[in-house]
Amino acid sequence: MGPFELMAGEYEQVVHCHDPRSGLRAIIAIHSTALGPALGGTRWYPYPDETTALRDVLRLAKGMTYKAAMAGLDLGGGKAVIIGDPARDRSEALLRAYGRYVESLGGRYVTAEDVGTTVEDIEMVARETRFASGRSSANPGGSGDPSIMTAYGTYQGIRAVAEYLWGSPDVGGRHVAIQGVGKVGWHLARLLHADGAKLTVADVNPDNVARCVTELGSKQADPNRVHAIACDVFSPCALGAVVNDTTVHELACAAVVGCANNILDRPDHGAALQRAGITYAPDYVVNAGGIINIAEELGGTYVAERARSATERIFDRVKALLARGAAEGRPTNEIADRMAEERLTEVGRLSQLRVLPGVGRRG
Ligand code: NAD
Repeated sequence: MGPFELMAGEYEQVVHCHDPRSGLRAIIAIHSTALGPALGGTRWYPYPDETTALRDVLRLAKGMTYKAAMAGLDLGGGKAVIIGDPARDRSEALLRAYGRYVESLGGRYVTAEDVGTTVEDIEMVARETRFASGRSSANPGGSGDPSIMTAYGTYQGIRAVAEYLWGSPDVGGRHVAIQGVGKVGWHLARLLHADGAKLTVADVNPDNVARCVTELGSKQADPNRVHAIACDVFSPCALGAVVNDTTVHELACAAVVGCANNILDRPDHGAALQRAGITYAPDYVVNAGGIINIAEELGGTYVAERARSATERIFDRVKALLARGAAEGRPTNEIADRMAEERLTEVGRLSQLRVLPGVGRRG
């Protein structure tokens, strides 16, 4: 399948960036700017070939459109991938070359960190472009590490599910099994522990598990079996495709709520969870705290408290979509997609109303 077929008429723009001297080979995909500039991080990964990289960036860019739309932000969806190994290929020239390509898009795409890129990388990219976010908190207005806010949003998602299922958002005494206690999972575990939740954690990194056992009194589980533990909430905070044809029959939880992207292997696994009587709070609604934090930075003056109260609204959003799912008898992932598409259509079309130059937020 060629690039145009892969884009399937759904994407506004896909840019291939090549600077042979520095070794830069990158693809920037803009899925939609209907609600605002396309925001999405830069993933730096040793893709086996360009088609795999293109497929990944397209899938991720579309996901960002839905995430921003559901988070109520004036942002569109985009993503970038740098093809290569960050451990081997990282250089000032490569990052700055990439920054110049981002700048050349004039703000239609705004980048940030993702897998393989660090705050320091984004700082280097930002020497060449105004359109880099997730800047170090050492900079005036920089929002710093987004994972703290992502964890806070995920915590709000779990509280909303608790209220929906058990009539109270209080997670005290509830058993939560967390798969992956890295940046987000660790902060989430601390928040839940502070509320008196019982925790079981699993991670392929023994140090991360040990920290939870020692500091939070967590139990530990086999990373490959944590999904099958009998608990109130299973919280995938490591990998995608955790709910798949095999695991969906092994889950022994009342709800799945986690920060990992693409928790469902396929969209129809949402219906499979519904049939199994397991409540699912869709990943991109729950894990939007990071993008909300970055959106606050893009507003010009980053105020952590404002980002925090915007992230708190994930609670209401999850409650609303669980209620709508129950009322319509539809899987919650379908409901979330529909709510995002409704906003894209209804608010996105407003940019067609002509206003004086510089007056409209979206031009
Ligand atoms: P991270 O790399 O800091 O943490 C991931 C943790 O999962 C690590 O501790 C790792 O050892 C562990 N892990 C890897 N494979 C595992 C396995 N098979 N079983 C159990 N544990 C395993 O990443 P993070 O920033 O905490 O992000 C976690 C997830 O949330 C990712 O899917 C990411 O895409 C998603 N996410 C993160 C953010 C953010 O702000 N960081 C925002 C949105 C979504």
